[in-house]
Amino acid sequence: MKNRTDSASGLNRFTLHFSDQREMKFRSYYFEKTRLTTRVAFLLLTLLYGVFGYLDTYWAGDYLVQFLIIRLAIVLPLFVMVIGLSFTKSFRKYWQTLLFINYLVAAIGIIIMVVLLPQSSFYSNGMMLVFLAGSVFIGLRFALASVAGFITLILYNLISLNMPEMSLAVMMTNNFFFVGALLIGMFASYYNEIFNRQNFDLYLQIAKKQQEIESANANLEKKVEQRTILLDSQNQELYAEVERRIQVEEELIKAKEDAIQSEKLKSAFLANMSHEIRTPMNGIIGFADLLNEAEDENELNEFIEIIKKNGEHLLNLINDIIDLSKIESGILKIHNQSFNLNQLTKEVYDLFVYDQHMVEAGIALTYENGLSNEQCHIITDRTRIKQIVINLVGNACKYTDEGSIHFGYTFINNTLHFFVRDTGIGIDEKQQEHVFERFMQVTLDNIPKRESTGLGLAISKTYLKMMGGDIKVKSQLGKGSEFSFKLTVEFDDEKNQIQE
Ligand code: ADP
Repeated sequence: MKNRTDSASGLNRFTLHFSDQREMKFRSYYFEKTRLTTRVAFLLLTLLYGVFGYLDTYWAGDYLVQFLIIRLAIVLPLFVMVIGLSFTKSFRKYWQTLLFINYLVAAIGIIIMVVLLPQSSFYSNGMMLVFLAGSVFIGLRFALASVAGFITLILYNLISLNMPEMSLAVMMTNNFFFVGALLIGMFASYYNEIFNRQNFDLYLQIAKKQQEIESANANLEKKVEQRTILLDSQNQELYAEVERRIQVEEELIKAKEDAIQSEKLKSAFLANMSHEIRTPMNGIIGFADLLNEAEDENELNEFIEIIKKNGEHLLNLINDIIDLSKIESGILKIHNQSFNLNQLTKEVYDLFVYDQHMVEAGIALTYENGLSNEQCHIITDRTRIKQIVINLVGNACKYTDEGSIHFGYTFINNTLHFFVRDTGIGIDEKQQEHVFERFMQVTLDNIPKRESTGLGLAISKTYLKMMGGDIKVKSQLGKGSEFSFKLTVEFDDEKNQIQE
């Protein structure tokens, strides 16, 4: 059998039906689209039917009353009812049935008129209008309109055949026109419905496509949004990475500069050391040679004194260098022992109070203890503490030409606060941050030359670090300096108690 289904829309051209759920949708679409047309059509038909009722006065003759009853009492109320019902909600459910019934009732009314007055073309023309209006005007769908048309035709013929006075010629002529009108009406109705259905199908397809486009758009927007978020986070990572690299680069540059600086300092230190060692060595050897040539005992003592001084300086220098190399090779260890701290400060005091430079310059040396003699037994590395205090007091002596030096410690919050204060030459702010660096002394060439190695503070700082302390400097150029460090130590309770 030939496939009568429209391949594009899936519409069966024979039954005029969609095979799927579109059929139900089409019916409501068709209803919505046709409701107004149907209302207007029925309004017009009501008028026409009424006007034709007026014409009945010319053509109906003896049947005028009957015809007017058919028109005004039966058909017209039905038409008006359709108009009224078209405003109700439930109209959608039965509107096609109602139109079908209206078609038949109006047709039967005219059939009666045609049969009763077969010679009058006025009524047979009216019949033609019924066929055409029923098919294409009132909104009845093709199938129902066709069925109603055929029923009308059959009824007309059945009633005509039962009328003895009916002429066969008139019947034939009427049938000829009626069938023609019915077929033309069906043809128009068929194509009207086909177009309506195709239109509807296109409308559905467009809606579907639109939905697809909208969902594709939404998807696209979502994807773009996700991409943007991803790109943003990647960008941030990149920024962070770039920043990290910049930081690493800066650190590398700094490390390189530090390495170059340290290398320079080391070379300078070595050069300086050889000079520093050679100076006292020359002094020792030179004056040792002169010993034999001393003119008197005084001169001999003077030479011996010079040799001794140079020897001491050389010893200091060598001690510093040995300490430094011990620190650098990591073999230097902290040896804790119990000792009397006040005795240590006294020893340092004694060491410097008779220092020639101090006496000659009239510099007053004083010290203070933060703990009583009975409570000052502590446990820590005595040798290192003494070395640090000697370094600091020694520096204060070295860099003070007049005034006073005060040193000692206080005891606050279980911590020993050591300090060495002087009224010496001071250190300018820029150099303060460098004084604890090794070999730094060699770069500080703006101060009067003194016997120095440039290692004392660096060594002291390293010792303190090993013992858990830290050293600081406060200084004002030309006014004096204060070096201080904090140390938390253990107390030798046993000895402190015995002392009590
Ligand atoms: P040195 O005294 O042997 O040069 P230090 O490491 O002890 O080495 O000191 C480093 C530098 O710090 C000294 O060269 C000096 O310039 C400065 N300095 C240290 N103590 C004082 C002080 N009390 N007053 C002024 N300058 C000081």
